[in-house]
Amino acid sequence: MAEAKGKLKRDRFYTEEDADLGLIKDRPIAVLGYGSQGHAQAQNMRDQGLDVIIGNVEDRFAEQARGDGFEVVPIPDAVQRGRVILMLIPDEVQPAVFKTDIGPHLTPDHTLVFASGYAVHFGLITPPDFLDVILSVPTCVGAIVRERYARGQGIFGHFGVYQDVTGQAHDLALAVSMGIGILRFGATETTFGDEVAVNLFAETAGLSGMIKYLLTAFEVLVEAGFSAEKAYGETFYEIQFLTESICRMPFGQAVAFGSPTATYLALTKTGDVVTEDVRERMRQMLARIKAGELVRDWNLEQLAGCPVLNQCRREILEHPISEVEELFLERKLASGGV
Ligand code: NDP
Repeated sequence: MAEAKGKLKRDRFYTEEDADLGLIKDRPIAVLGYGSQGHAQAQNMRDQGLDVIIGNVEDRFAEQARGDGFEVVPIPDAVQRGRVILMLIPDEVQPAVFKTDIGPHLTPDHTLVFASGYAVHFGLITPPDFLDVILSVPTCVGAIVRERYARGQGIFGHFGVYQDVTGQAHDLALAVSMGIGILRFGATETTFGDEVAVNLFAETAGLSGMIKYLLTAFEVLVEAGFSAEKAYGETFYEIQFLTESICRMPFGQAVAFGSPTATYLALTKTGDVVTEDVRERMRQMLARIKAGELVRDWNLEQLAGCPVLNQCRREILEHPISEVEELFLERKLASGGV
């Protein structure tokens, strides 16, 4: 890969200097859903003087939004009152809610904003052709989106345009991205298809591989007779420190300048466990994602009542690491640190 240095495809980083928040200042923002992203994006936007109302069913999230000082109305009312509509309900329920509560109330002066390319790219929602449809995506959970914003910081994100009816969709996507806080850090432009492909790839090839890798490392040590504390401490616990290092310094520095022994072993054995055939399997995973195969599987799973998901959840919650994790968590709190 070293020969690729200097030849990689690169994106422009857009920042607040590229955006005009004024474009959405006089247009009420309807945040649909007050969960992970909803609570964060709504508060970040309100902090910048934008006029935000929340659309939510009467549920615990509605109560939370009222507690945070927002006006909460049913989703169809929020769509009618808002002009910029942020779709912040889970991807898997968006199609049904769109059909009954959102789509029928849309008019040409609405701007429809998604935080994921999922529903539109895979054809689960077909937005009407008379309005701008854009994307503004933070790359992490809402709690961090809000926490960083409140501390005066930002996080990386993406923005994009699916449909530009007014000729202003690109600028509107930048304005919304500034509102939710991602331009403080910087955002790159993407398409709905690329956003969802890369995101699902990270979740399957990346996150899924990491879960399996950590559990297997733990299991091999325990199987060989080491205590759960030692196995956990050298696998799961250490990963926290590597992650923290990567947040503070370039990846190369973080992995190349540990103790010489650790660095030698880590860098010379990278291909022994994660062998080259993983690359081919990752390529196949990406191809399956782009072909919509994983989304089709997920849709069928939901129709069946999520038996596989529920079984996987049970298995991971019942994994023996949970025993030792409790102790580590207790010690973490008791020692006032990590
Ligand atoms: P959440 O699961 O946190 O959303 C919960 C909200 O959706 C609540 O307000 C809930 O209301 C509402 N909701 C759930 N089901 C329904 C339903 N059937 N009808 C009406 N409202 C419903 O979602 P996220 O914030 O995680 O995701 C929102 C969007 O942001 C998605 O497109 C996602 O891909 C994207 N995104 C998420 C990220 C993340 O890390 N979470 C990161 C980047 C993008 P109640 O329960 O009160 O009914």
